[in-house]
Amino acid sequence: MSQTENKNIIDGFEPVIGLEVHAQLVTKTKIFCACENKYGAEPNTLTCPVCLGLPGALPVLNMQAVEYAIKMILAIGGEVRQRSIFARKNYFYPDLPKGYQISQFDLPIGEGGVITISADGSEKQLGVTRIHLEDDAGKSLHPEGSGDTYSRIDLNRCGAPLIEIVSEPDMRSPQEAYAYLSKIKQILQYVGVCTGDMEKGHLRCDANISVRPEGQEKFGTKTELKNMNSFKGVERALNFEIARQIQTIKDGGSISQQTLLWNEKKQVAEAMRSKEEANDYRYFPEPDLTPLHVSESWLEEIRESLPELPDARSARFVKEYGIPEYDAGVLTDTHTLADYFEAVAKKINDGKLASNWVMGELSRYANEGAFDFAEPHVAPEDISRVISEVKALKISASFGKQAVKELVVEKKPLSEIDFGGNQMISDTGELEALIENVLSSNEENVVRYLAGAEKLIGFFVGQLMKETKGKADPALVNKLLKEKLESRRS
Ligand SMILES: [Zn+2]
Repeated sequence: MSQTENKNIIDGFEPVIGLEVHAQLVTKTKIFCACENKYGAEPNTLTCPVCLGLPGALPVLNMQAVEYAIKMILAIGGEVRQRSIFARKNYFYPDLPKGYQISQFDLPIGEGGVITISADGSEKQLGVTRIHLEDDAGKSLHPEGSGDTYSRIDLNRCGAPLIEIVSEPDMRSPQEAYAYLSKIKQILQYVGVCTGDMEKGHLRCDANISVRPEGQEKFGTKTELKNMNSFKGVERALNFEIARQIQTIKDGGSISQQTLLWNEKKQVAEAMRSKEEANDYRYFPEPDLTPLHVSESWLEEIRESLPELPDARSARFVKEYGIPEYDAGVLTDTHTLADYFEAVAKKINDGKLASNWVMGELSRYANEGAFDFAEPHVAPEDISRVISEVKALKISASFGKQAVKELVVEKKPLSEIDFGGNQMISDTGELEALIENVLSSNEENVVRYLAGAEKLIGFFVGQLMKETKGKADPALVNKLLKEKLESRRS
């Protein structure tokens, strides 16, 4: 790649970005105790001596958390370490009663892997350095409008299982970081180990960011950005920090290594107090847990259980259903959407038509909140019935849309949809008679049409649709109308 083609250069500088993503695993219980792993419970109701770090309480590793971590490692083509070690990461924080997190340090469970994103129409592969397991801390709450002058602590999240996915510094723009994060979320959801919900904190992201003069190989000094609570927030925070670093350097200053907190309200990144920043975690091997061994046979079992992943599924949709790559990309965004599409496509045996209706009507209702592909209240079979009727030209497309609306929005059962009373009129003789009526009661417009006002065809179609309450076959109406009008020329 020649430097002049590099679109990521801003004012002569190239951003370098790495992300650390924390994903909370959807296991039934916490990572080192039997407490329920659940979001939204009454504060401090899901705790026990282990996750509260009481003296003498011993952690027991939850193998479901290990399995979920392995699923993600395999899904991105990483390597699962057969023997990994848990380590204590010591620091003080009010919502961390143990005084340390149990994490993995020099021997994490997963290493390597690749996330493929599409950037500017081409594919780019971004490296993953490692994936490790750890337990989560609790939460400090500062309810808005509470007027509290103190922090409230909820320890329900203490001990929730996390994987931390650390990327290589491979991203060169906030857009690439956004695409990487979206892909991570998509894969986590596909393999079913994390909800990916950033607003609820199930997916969290910190960023390392630096800039370097165009053409320079050596990385600049990096800062760390924390506290971003949405995908758009990550992009905004990175844009802010890139601009700040470039301006600082251009003003003759230098970048100091520090941790910044993104303030979404003010749209600025603010430096943490230096005390909070002292990252001396004094890691040492966790004495209460033995090394984690993953057997070859278990690894194979988990590998076998992996579902088809988004990129593979998208490629298969193009091949199997003959739909455009764009459609396949949209339809595989979530596995529930992909499942729904596939059920409809198989039922009506027409990929493109299924794609049009699922991406059109159904996705529109999904965006409006009236439909959820993850928990569909209308079965793909019912939607397929409507599409089949349209395909067989038994009902018009506009009635088909009406029928979908009745099923989805009005929640009518399929048995109440009046297909019979809305049969499309595609009988040539019947339509010809109706057309004659319309033409003879609009002679003026017929004359204007024949004099060259051909746009009036729309008027005649409209009249006919009115007569038939939208049930006339539009293609046939168009054809017959033109014929009838032309025959009046002589
Ligand atoms: Zn517990």
